[in-house]
Amino acid sequence: SRPAPSPSAGEEMPAIPGRPPVLCPGCPHRGIFYVLHKLKLLVTGDIGCYTLGGLPPLEGMDTCVCMGASIGMAHGCELADPSLAERTVGVIGDSTFFHSGLTGLLNMVYNNGRGTVIILDNRTTAMTGHQDHPGTGKTLMGRDAPAINLEALVRALGVRRVQVVDPLDVARLTAVIKEELAAPEPSVIIARRPCALLQKERRPAVAVDAELCTGCRACLKLSCPAISVREQKAAVDAITCTGCGLCVQVCKFGALQEGGRQNG
Ligand code: SF4
Ligand code: SF4
Repeated sequence: SRPAPSPSAGEEMPAIPGRPPVLCPGCPHRGIFYVLHKLKLLVTGDIGCYTLGGLPPLEGMDTCVCMGASIGMAHGCELADPSLAERTVGVIGDSTFFHSGLTGLLNMVYNNGRGTVIILDNRTTAMTGHQDHPGTGKTLMGRDAPAINLEALVRALGVRRVQVVDPLDVARLTAVIKEELAAPEPSVIIARRPCALLQKERRPAVAVDAELCTGCRACLKLSCPAISVREQKAAVDAITCTGCGLCVQVCKFGALQEGGRQNG
């Protein structure tokens, strides 16, 4: 094929706005990284679309080395400085956990660690195109298969403290993370909500009450592509907003309201 024509000398090309990659609107991972950043924790991360949670403005992940490294890194931090156990969280996706997280968790239990691990259970292998995994009940060929129960699996590895939370419930998620960080033994928090792209039913987009919006931009810290600011007020794109409700919990002025508009 012929190469694209180059601009001739002196010809100005229109500026292309920088668009860093972001989590999808309605992504359940967004709640996790928002809370982890707010709590100012040391977060050892892993490989998946959730690694985007390390980018600004979420900035909820500090390390990403290789598949399965999150749990070993969290345990290593604790060994290097025991006081870090109370402010370090290992974060790993469900598919990554089945692939290469089991040994790290077993190692933490065996070596008397007291780390906290969050498994982001979005019921799929999202980053590479929604492949099934041992927890979904289907093989990669689409045949029925035993669905491995994550809670039972981590308990079988010796973890006694296991909690299941909704990653889009900011208040409960915050309380559970604090509770498990304070526990003197290994903990696993399973943050369970399907990938936003797998949800067949969408809720109405949130509405902005311009009278209540102060333009504080706190909602922009969620890095949701559906939210922008126009003329010093928040704006929500009704086409892309899934109505996940996360921003409603973040706006302390009540300017973002659920059930506002039907999306396209
Ligand atoms: S919607 Fe709420 S959080 Fe967002 S800019 Fe307005 S007042 Fe601030
Ligand atoms: S409810 Fe808020 S956070 Fe969720 S998709 Fe819509 S604009 Fe984004």
